[in-house]
Amino acid sequence: MAEPVVGTVGEICKQAGSYICGNCGHYKYYDEGDEFEACPMCGEEDMEWELET
Ligand SMILES: [Zn+2]
Repeated sequence: MAEPVVGTVGEICKQAGSYICGNCGHYKYYDEGDEFEACPMCGEEDMEWELET
């Protein structure tokens, strides 16, 4: 089983794709090399972005 690809705020994205806010479910596209940010929808910083597969 593949582990989910996740990123925390301030980390650099290593795999481009649509990520889902672990707090509110908002989708945001991150490119490789982008820095994960606080969710623009709910403003949460203390969560993980999870790659949609
Ligand atoms: Zn959110």
